[in-house]
Amino acid sequence: GTPIRIGIVGYGNLGRGVEAAVSHNADMALMGVFTRRNPAELNPARADTTVFAYDALTEHHDSIDVLVLCGGSKEDLPQQGPELAARFNIVDSFDTHARIPEYFAAVDGAAHEASTTALISTGWDPGLFSINRVMGESLLPEGDTYTFWGRGLSQGHSDAIRRVPGVAGGVQYTIPSDEAIDSVRSGLRPPLTTQQKHTRECYVVLQDGADADAVRAAIVTMPHYFADYNTTVSFISDDELRRDHADMPHGGTVIRSGSTSHGKRQTIEFGLQLGSNPEFTASVLVAYARAVHRMGAQGQYGAKTVFDVPPGLLSPRSAAQLRAELL
Ligand code: NAP
Repeated sequence: GTPIRIGIVGYGNLGRGVEAAVSHNADMALMGVFTRRNPAELNPARADTTVFAYDALTEHHDSIDVLVLCGGSKEDLPQQGPELAARFNIVDSFDTHARIPEYFAAVDGAAHEASTTALISTGWDPGLFSINRVMGESLLPEGDTYTFWGRGLSQGHSDAIRRVPGVAGGVQYTIPSDEAIDSVRSGLRPPLTTQQKHTRECYVVLQDGADADAVRAAIVTMPHYFADYNTTVSFISDDELRRDHADMPHGGTVIRSGSTSHGKRQTIEFGLQLGSNPEFTASVLVAYARAVHRMGAQGQYGAKTVFDVPPGLLSPRSAAQLRAELL
């Protein structure tokens, strides 16, 4: 049939990931990247990708089935989500958990008015992890849910390190505690704080003449970011930082630990080990773009989340094929 025509809004890590992911889906075609920057100054990863100005979206209205929004959750999506849902079917990865209800309401109003379908907050967390939290507590009402993040690069904590005086560069990895994971897997259902579940590893490049002990002390005592955690700081060279820490790995585990009848322990575990957080998130966005296209065609308008999407709609296979081949 005719391919699903995709537009990418915003060309950062996630935008590049979507560009790659579309090329792995035979039923999709990339119509272009739309950026707020000067299109002539962007170098897309694929030679056949066309870059347009954000404002050119107006004239592409009839040649795009779904826009994949790849802007940041903090500044970009709160503005672009409602604005674009008023004109297009959209998918995004809005991940400010505390603000999802208000963002949903803003997008929902715009999408209902325009009869578009707008899937917000997909990816892995929120996204696949959210689905697994709902499954866990629905299937095992007597139980506890645990989410562990990592091993992964935290952009926010890496930024915090780089603001410490004497630091030339650095990255921070969030590491789930093996001890905590083991105690959850054993079915003990321990009460655990976020701090008890995770440790923090920092790799830091010092500025010339900086005092390593002072930098280490400033990091491990930093309120909110590190003070409450078991934090380690290792000093490395600029070359090592570039060679060993350029990737953006992440992942984590959602565990539901519960019981059915007397003492019968039941555990559900869903885990991800991601070589590239943005490339994986982009792959999830693209599968959900397919579902959005179908839901829009069925007249299911308004804002949606992963909780509202039947899994079969993510697949390029037909419902009959899925019953015969994957059920
Ligand atoms: P990013 O690289 O900072 O890109 C965000 C936007 O900034 C881009 O869309 C781009 O818009 C602009 N930009 C990118 N590079 C730029 C540059 N060199 N100079 C000026 N502007 C630039 O962010 P990202 O890593 O793609 O992440 C985007 C969002 O994904 C995050 O905010 C996070 O909320 C979300 N996320 C969600 C999940 C999940 O599981 N739900 C997982 C990972 C990430 P223009 O092209 O219009 O300038």
